[in-house]
Amino acid sequence: MVQSAVLGFPRIGPNRELKKATEAYWNGKTSVEDLLKVGKEIREQNWKLQKEAGVDIIASNDFSFYDQVLDLSVLFNVIPERYTKYQLAQLDVLFAMGRGLQRKATDSEPAVDVTALEMVKWFDSNYHYVRPTFGKNLTFKLNGQKPVDEFLEAKALGIQTRPVLVGPVSYLYLGKADKDNLELDPISLLDQLLPLYTEILTKLAAAGATEVQLDEPTLVLDLPANVQAAIKKAYTYFGQQANLPKITIASYFGTAVPNLDALKGLPVSGFHFDFVRAPEQFNDVVAAIGPNQTLSVGIVDGRNIWKNNFAKSSDFVQQAIAKLGADRVVVATSSSLLHTPVDLANESKLDAELKNYFSFATQKLGEVVTIAKNVSGQDVSATLKSNATDIAARSNSSFINDQAVKDRVASIDAKMSTRAAPFPQRLAEQQPVFNLPLFPTTTIGSFPQTKDIRINRNKFNKGQLSAEEYEKFINSEIERVIRFQEEIDLDVLVHGEPERNDMVQYFGEQLKGYAFTTNGWVQSYGSRYVRPPIIVGDLSRPKAMSVKESVYAQSITKKHVKGMLTGPITCLRWSFPRDDIDQQTQAYQLALALRDEVNDLEAAGIKIIQVDEPAIREGLPLRAGAERSAYQVWAAEAFRVATSGVSNKTQIHSHFCYSDLDPNHIKALDADVVSIEFSKKDDANYIAEFKDYPNHIGLGLFDIHSPRIPSTEEFISKIETILKTYPAEKFWVNPDCGLKTRGWEETRLSLTHMVEAAKYFRKQY
Ligand code: GLN
Ligand code: ZN
Repeated sequence: MVQSAVLGFPRIGPNRELKKATEAYWNGKTSVEDLLKVGKEIREQNWKLQKEAGVDIIASNDFSFYDQVLDLSVLFNVIPERYTKYQLAQLDVLFAMGRGLQRKATDSEPAVDVTALEMVKWFDSNYHYVRPTFGKNLTFKLNGQKPVDEFLEAKALGIQTRPVLVGPVSYLYLGKADKDNLELDPISLLDQLLPLYTEILTKLAAAGATEVQLDEPTLVLDLPANVQAAIKKAYTYFGQQANLPKITIASYFGTAVPNLDALKGLPVSGFHFDFVRAPEQFNDVVAAIGPNQTLSVGIVDGRNIWKNNFAKSSDFVQQAIAKLGADRVVVATSSSLLHTPVDLANESKLDAELKNYFSFATQKLGEVVTIAKNVSGQDVSATLKSNATDIAARSNSSFINDQAVKDRVASIDAKMSTRAAPFPQRLAEQQPVFNLPLFPTTTIGSFPQTKDIRINRNKFNKGQLSAEEYEKFINSEIERVIRFQEEIDLDVLVHGEPERNDMVQYFGEQLKGYAFTTNGWVQSYGSRYVRPPIIVGDLSRPKAMSVKESVYAQSITKKHVKGMLTGPITCLRWSFPRDDIDQQTQAYQLALALRDEVNDLEAAGIKIIQVDEPAIREGLPLRAGAERSAYQVWAAEAFRVATSGVSNKTQIHSHFCYSDLDPNHIKALDADVVSIEFSKKDDANYIAEFKDYPNHIGLGLFDIHSPRIPSTEEFISKIETILKTYPAEKFWVNPDCGLKTRGWEETRLSLTHMVEAAKYFRKQY
């Protein structure tokens, strides 16, 4: 019998129970016992669900109150000193490391003020992990035994689980040296870490665990030789220890082929590979595994929401069985299901036809089980038949296919993706139109989204507010934002985005080819979950999406108002994409829809149009090579297709945040002005790379994630430093990103100081 396995299940609860419980605890509304109870209930529910679905290998320790990597840092005592001096309870230390902690002194407790650790994207997903940070004075030791406790919890329910931990090499490689310890290469800590892994694995074995899953997703990156050597060393070491559970090394999100040499001959019981993302690695990995090792075939997509094609997947698994025999093959999810929404059954508003094409985490459990049964020769013919019907229906669906869109994508040529004239000429034509001073000031788009805005939007969605009433409300918000900016004396204004719930969903809802869930939440980091829209078919724009608001804003001021759109790559990356056509094609479809919008804005008299692309970096393929180079070309081209239909006089802006973007990538967009997050980077070398780039750049001068208000002097000194490497003529002045999450008063003060600083420099130049 071929076994089925699930690498991990979402831990947020079917109705975001974990978010509610965690935030209530943070706000002091509930006790730690209440929070622990909710965690326990979610784990129990998840295990039972998997057991009932018939999954053979069920993970434990996939639960976390914040992040699974942070859990390991606490478990191994990789806790920087600044968190230990307050005598906080262990769970509070964990939260402080994840999100910082600021607490006034009380009668019984001293004040606490500590910033969070760095948070980084988990590979190319929209999940973020808390980066292990290795300072001086580290003492590796076990703090508690979370993996054992959770294993025992499941065991008490009569469910045997396979505990999962991030493996030692990925844990170290994904970490970094702390500021006080910069010479350290985290990989050099391996010798200190291995005994701790051994200790926890030994305890797991003693508790009755026969197998563990050690995740080594770094295997899909380009690894330096010392990291490959560390893999060999770590797992050879485990092989020499007595009484450990059997180990499966799991890689996912790409191909492990370039690192296979490091895996050959390791004394582990098996390997897991992601064949959804990288089916092409099949022959190489089969050739690399030893005669008694198992192959876990990741064939049910852990990153997307499409129903599995059972016939195709079964054929794939059969190939493995033919080579290795049924007892050495496991049918598995490609990665943890953490990246998918919990349960399709919770979607009451989805179109019934579309619902038939989707599969969320709960449905995917049945998928691994069905495939495993099928390849083991059990009769699942009825299930297979209805699956084949759904798969065929999807590919012929009128939701999906739109010939006009396909034809238009095929017609994209170099002319469509190139502005009529090069930047210097455009600039010459734009200058008399805008007459901007040196150091022009602007913002990134959104202004504080108050409770009032959310209440009115909700009322409108529920039909309690008519379209006219809602429009009136939105216009009054726009007017407030315009007057505010005039008062502050900003140079280029925005309308403030009060009508937008989210920068992708807002446009998605107006495009043909998109679907939306009501409860399809996925953890992004900590207690922040996102609800990605789903690209279901060929995408097009039935009518203008943002013109009304921009035109209204422009009509009530003499200053220029920027039109504000979300770029094609960001729309793509923050959605669940289609799996039946490539991402490039989807990006071009979005680009064409946005091109129409850009052109409509121009025709309506909007002279500056910003197209945001904050997610462009996250789409970069994980490995160097042809795929990555191609992405750099098509991602930039999609942006240019969206923005090149306008005249030379129209000024195109773009915006990036969250990332260390390669300057070449910014240059390839040929936007007239790009604003970038910069306040925390403050890196003179980075900005120096733009010295010879003629187009203009706006440097983010304050952190919009923090309520802190920088003084005018602070802005002046920041600008002074930047001016050492970056010329005044190309220098725009702006915050790091949108101000949506900030309060009005902080916003007023920060922007006032920013404008004062710009005026100070205008006098100097
Ligand atoms: N224009 C958007 C805003 O200001 C940009 C958001 C983003 O880059 N994440 O909110
Ligand atoms: Zn941003």
